[in-house]
Amino acid sequence: MSIATEPFGQAPDGQAVALFTLTNAAGRQVKITNYGGIVVSLTARDRAGKLDDVVLGFETLAEYIAETPYFGAIVGRYGNRIGGAAFTLDSKKYSLAANDGPNSLHGGSTGFDKVVWRARAVEGDGADAIELEYLSADGEEGYPGALSVKVVYTWTDADELRIDYTAETDKRTVVNLTNHSYFNLAGAGVGNNLAHEIMIEADHFTPVNATLIPTGELRSVKDTPMDFTHPVAIGERIDADDEQLTLGGGYDHNWVLRSSDGSLALAARVHEPTTGRVLEVLTTEPGVQFYSGNFLDGHLVGKGGRTYVHRGALCLETQHFPDSPNRPEFPSTILSPGQTYRQTTVFRLSVRA
Ligand code: BGC
Repeated sequence: MSIATEPFGQAPDGQAVALFTLTNAAGRQVKITNYGGIVVSLTARDRAGKLDDVVLGFETLAEYIAETPYFGAIVGRYGNRIGGAAFTLDSKKYSLAANDGPNSLHGGSTGFDKVVWRARAVEGDGADAIELEYLSADGEEGYPGALSVKVVYTWTDADELRIDYTAETDKRTVVNLTNHSYFNLAGAGVGNNLAHEIMIEADHFTPVNATLIPTGELRSVKDTPMDFTHPVAIGERIDADDEQLTLGGGYDHNWVLRSSDGSLALAARVHEPTTGRVLEVLTTEPGVQFYSGNFLDGHLVGKGGRTYVHRGALCLETQHFPDSPNRPEFPSTILSPGQTYRQTTVFRLSVRA
């Protein structure tokens, strides 16, 4: 294992940004920058042993700063949507940036995806890590409490990218952190995701309204295009005549994971048949947003000059359910002083013969 560090340019506020390359014993690499905690590149072998970069992104920091739909980033303080860009906590109303129609998406105007994190490279035996820290001020983006956040990316010889998140606050607040990597297991920029087969360990999902806010119902996936209890190609039903798919423009929903006790459990498995590549997602979180890249439209050109077409990737954002601060019946996203927020997610890459 080894870690190489190089300069990656300057953030808009003038801070120097670094790019870390972690290489495992088999030569597979992950590149991570401390701007937004972005996973810039992740290589995986295919059936023939060929390495390809399987996450969407850019070669330069300037391109990430100019425009990115959260490619590879750490999303916070609240990943996903908060309805009406407001919530009430302990009888006090907090107003957030409405940056997605009437709602607040992914932490507001300057979420954790757009800040510079303090970084430390830690070389280990069989695993290397990048530790990222960020102190989000009390009132930043409208959220109460100074939140001290730590994200540790660990890249192992077993081709696992493990992400351990912790956070502490000095006032009651809400927290929901995730990673927004866009995967295309055929290779970033190689066509769309429709042939990828996906299995999600969930019997229910949270149906949404017209602005993608959960209605509050936990609906059975049975006999719907949301049923991924057995592997199904994304393209098989994505254009079905279905109210929820129409609202999402495809898949853009939260699945209620079977495992809800906070242990690290399998959430989803994706298989790309032409290359044999497999991605397994394990998490301690109760939900996962399966987003099929419906807003990608071919105008972004990424690494290697490749165009990111409509549905050219998929995201599996492990999370608490969207709009939980306004839904007391959902698992709570409230963090109090003295408590430690914890979430762990593992992206495990392998290959099927
Ligand atoms: C959301 C999508 C959104 C995407 C990029 C996903 O988490 O569910 O609706 O377009 O992030 O912002």
